[in-house]
Amino acid sequence: MKRVIALVDCNNFFVSCERLLKPELIGKAVCVLSNNDGCVVSRSNEAKRMGVEMGAPYFIAKNQFKKVIFLSGNLSYYCEISKRIMDKLYDFTPDVEVYSIDEAFLDLTGLKKTFNCSYEKICERIIKEIKDEIGIDVSVGLSYSKVLAKLANDKAKDLQKIKIDKKNYKIGFRQIKQELQGTLVSQVWGVGKNTASLLKKYSIQSAWDFVLQEDIWIKKNLGKTGLDLKQELLGNSINPVQNTDSPPKTISRSESFKEFQTNKTYIQKELNYHIHRVCKKLRQENLLTSCISVMLRTKDFQIQSIKINLVNPTNTEFELLEHSKNILDLLYEKNTVYRSCGFCAMKLTIATVQQISIFNSTKTLKRQELSKSWDKLEEKFGKNIITLGVK
Ligand SMILES: [Mg+2]
Repeated sequence: MKRVIALVDCNNFFVSCERLLKPELIGKAVCVLSNNDGCVVSRSNEAKRMGVEMGAPYFIAKNQFKKVIFLSGNLSYYCEISKRIMDKLYDFTPDVEVYSIDEAFLDLTGLKKTFNCSYEKICERIIKEIKDEIGIDVSVGLSYSKVLAKLANDKAKDLQKIKIDKKNYKIGFRQIKQELQGTLVSQVWGVGKNTASLLKKYSIQSAWDFVLQEDIWIKKNLGKTGLDLKQELLGNSINPVQNTDSPPKTISRSESFKEFQTNKTYIQKELNYHIHRVCKKLRQENLLTSCISVMLRTKDFQIQSIKINLVNPTNTEFELLEHSKNILDLLYEKNTVYRSCGFCAMKLTIATVQQISIFNSTKTLKRQELSKSWDKLEEKFGKNIITLGVK
């Protein structure tokens, strides 16, 4: 069955939250700054029109834009508002995937009957009720897959930029072709820089150019992710809305190397970085993994991977680093040229207090403390403050 998926996204979220507290800011050029007033992380439409860039360092922007009001951010307050919005979304459907502090995907399939109105009308109700009850403006993108819903949401935002008051935007079947023709493939959600430059090499400019490619070609160049993307763009939902209440099935991270690699130390370092990112996510979600796999992809797209089960479920880097080193020793071949590596955590379970105390020796507990401190340092000083060495 075709899915009907909506992406609800708050407009200029942090600025909107500030305006709730201080209505005198409405209509003015306002920006909210990151931790320690480092850089701009949210802009009002007025500030956007004046040309303040997202991520602009405060010490430059404050001199460049003297009329803009810059405010220090208050993350715990924004989280509180975010929670109220997300709770409101659950009034419409249990299938809510909270994607970030100000975005959530909703699977609305079948709700036309429940609400006895069209899907657009449901979206209008979502927008109105959040505005009336919480005071925040949201935009809603409506379509048949997450990728198209995201695209629809971007379109709504584009119209608002040129002052057209359009809060919800639908991409129906008849509009898919036209919308994809008008969208650069690099702007599609999930298309990273590496993929975009690869597609550019083959003169694939628009999202429509991309879906016209043969499956065989896509699979060869972009793997399954590419094929999934094509289907999502054509309106076939491949990545379902995952109810945030139930744990995800796997967490994985992989990335292409900057250049093709034969150097094992380099590969191990990249792998360590992916392991850290996976572990960080596990800790954020309060999950443990009891099965991991390490993947290497060769220059000619051959995938080699080894999966192992763990005796004790974990979410700390240190044990996984040892295992991954052993797996890499098995996978790596001296004269092979590699293009990417990845790390995947499977068989995820929710970390209960009991599990932690039953399974963990002092050594493990120390490692957990270390990992948590690491997360805190990153929060404070930014990503890559610590990197894992290779022995
Ligand atoms: Mg937003």
